[in-house]
Amino acid sequence: MKKKQTSKDQLPLFIPRSNTSTQINKTGSWRYFRPLYEEKTAPCSAACPAGEDIPRIEMLVSQGLFKKAWETILDENPLPSICGRVCFHPCEKACNRGELDEPIAIHSLERFIGESAISSSKSADLKKLPNNGKKAAIAGAGPAGLATAYFLSRLGYQCDVFEAQSEPGGILRWGIPAYRLPEDTLKKEIKRIEDLGVHIHCETPVTEALLQKINQKYNALFIGCGYGRPIKLRIPGEESAHDGLRFLHQIRTGGKVALQGTAAVVGGGNTAVDVARTLKRLGVKPIIVYRRRRQDMPAFEPEIERARKEGIELMELLTPIRIEEDPGSTSKSDSSFKMTLQKMKVSTKEIRGRARVIPYGEKTKTLQVQHIFIAIGAEAEVLWHLPSAKNNNQLTLSHSTIIEQEIPVVFGGDLTNETKRVTDAIASGKQAAIALDVYFKKGWDSIEESLVNCRVGGGPALSMAAYLNEERNNRKPHIVSFDEINSDYFQSAPRVISPTLSPDQSVRSFSEIEATLSKRAATQEAERCFNCGICNSCDYCRIFCPDVAVMVEEAERYINLDYCKGCGICVTECPRNAMALEEEKK
Ligand SMILES: Cc1cc2nc3c(=O)[nH]c(=O)nc-3n(C[C@H](O)[C@H](O)[C@H](O)COP(=O)(O)OP(=O)(O)OC[C@H]3O[C@@H](n4cnc5c(N)ncnc54)[C@H](O)[C@@H]3O)c2cc1C
Ligand code: SF4
Ligand code: SF4
Repeated sequence: MKKKQTSKDQLPLFIPRSNTSTQINKTGSWRYFRPLYEEKTAPCSAACPAGEDIPRIEMLVSQGLFKKAWETILDENPLPSICGRVCFHPCEKACNRGELDEPIAIHSLERFIGESAISSSKSADLKKLPNNGKKAAIAGAGPAGLATAYFLSRLGYQCDVFEAQSEPGGILRWGIPAYRLPEDTLKKEIKRIEDLGVHIHCETPVTEALLQKINQKYNALFIGCGYGRPIKLRIPGEESAHDGLRFLHQIRTGGKVALQGTAAVVGGGNTAVDVARTLKRLGVKPIIVYRRRRQDMPAFEPEIERARKEGIELMELLTPIRIEEDPGSTSKSDSSFKMTLQKMKVSTKEIRGRARVIPYGEKTKTLQVQHIFIAIGAEAEVLWHLPSAKNNNQLTLSHSTIIEQEIPVVFGGDLTNETKRVTDAIASGKQAAIALDVYFKKGWDSIEESLVNCRVGGGPALSMAAYLNEERNNRKPHIVSFDEINSDYFQSAPRVISPTLSPDQSVRSFSEIEATLSKRAATQEAERCFNCGICNSCDYCRIFCPDVAVMVEEAERYINLDYCKGCGICVTECPRNAMALEEEKK
């Protein structure tokens, strides 16, 4: 019988140990591949029209460096507290974290950062070039005009903004209701732009006569007058209806409006939804009447959903064809209207993802209401607000059009943007500022090439930090995909939700519905971010390197090439694709 082996009988285990330093063995000479730190572009940054450096912003928040995070936003976007509230956050749709569980609440963090700075009265330490002696005039103090002034001022231009209304802000001030954007927030963000040296001249509409003076006194002009003229339905009886945008303006001016009964709000965009929700807060029963279906409404989906929860009815596939005053009304105050609605049906074709609708034969429906509001869109107030037909000295860019005439003129914001959103208006202002600066420094022919050089990812978002050649200009345009994230390092964690009033509480006043995240919730949410494509000093590259070739000196990481044998373990382990492996050039 075979004797059972004991531990004593087993062969001793020999572990080779060196009695001298192994530093003599320069394993670096075996290398065919070389690892390097290579920052790349996060998909959220590329999707943000303002090109914010989101992975870096979230990294700074997770480290408690809120002021630095704020300044990093301000590099690219002058209005973080506003965008954190009203931007439709396309960044979150692109967020890689969405593939693991839920996207990072980027807009809530942006709002938190903006609010923390406002509440602690911080002043930003931003790069501002010395005065270059050039003057720019800006027509319109909406987000496009304000952003143009902000970026041009940082580039050393003296800026005068001419605004027709009594206060600056454009639709931010007169359109978007206070329950989504309080006036105080807007004022504080605009004040910071003025603190840069920008002069805003209110109640000073730019007229054709003023344009002549601008041509003589200024070196450049930006036209960002927005879409101020409401589009008409062009149906009989329309004169009895109110204009939606004018109504919102009246409410935001503090005007007293006594309304009751039921109101039809015609349209499917942001204006229609905001008019309906405003009416609800005034005690009226609003019904949105839309010619397509809910899924085709151009308004921001979460706002449509909130309107539904607030009890606002939506009637789809109906378009008004006639409005008649009810002969039964005894006085102006109890007047009611009969609105005849043509039934519509979806035809097979779709226009940019929205259903194409056609009349459903002769089928109609009538709606009896006390008030009618039209909110079907707007257009440029006058012809000169728009760039003229194409000619040789005109450059049509993604968010603006620049024309070389007596002085260079840039048209931007809603006037030129295909997507009419606040952050696109800001993108427009940044593009205009960079284009004008390139024009003055290098000439007309260099504009396009210079803009390409400061794109975020493949564009169209532009980075002012890149234009000013700041540190993050080194990041590669490669957009990090979820497959390139080492998801083993991340555990599922729920997205934070901002405290929000219930629909019942919301409709009782114009108080803001959503609150700002607490410091704790913001830090926790920022920690969920993968920080795609940037090094956040997690140290996994150093921990896993078998040759102890990853060095850290004064918080800077580098590879000691004497010992790196090019195995690439650091690159594979990097959780966020902030490294790369390239062939060794012998
Ligand atoms: C009701 C409503 C709600 C919206 N909600 C959202 C939202 O939640 N999120 C979002 O991203 N987008 C939203 N939008 C769209 C967004 O507000 C616009 O895309 C954005 O404001 C466009 O900016 P702008 O600077 O081009 O124009 P505007 O904001 O329209 O500003 C133009 C400015 O020019 C001034 N002006 C006009 N003519 C002259 C002149 N001759 N001289 C001097 N000044 C002049 C106007 O008074 C105004 O102040 C909303 C739009 C509306 C109507
Ligand atoms: S501005 Fe909009 S798109 Fe950009 S980071 Fe903020 S929420 Fe996202
Ligand atoms: S995980 Fe962070 S860096 Fe990556 S896409 Fe989302 S927000 Fe951007």
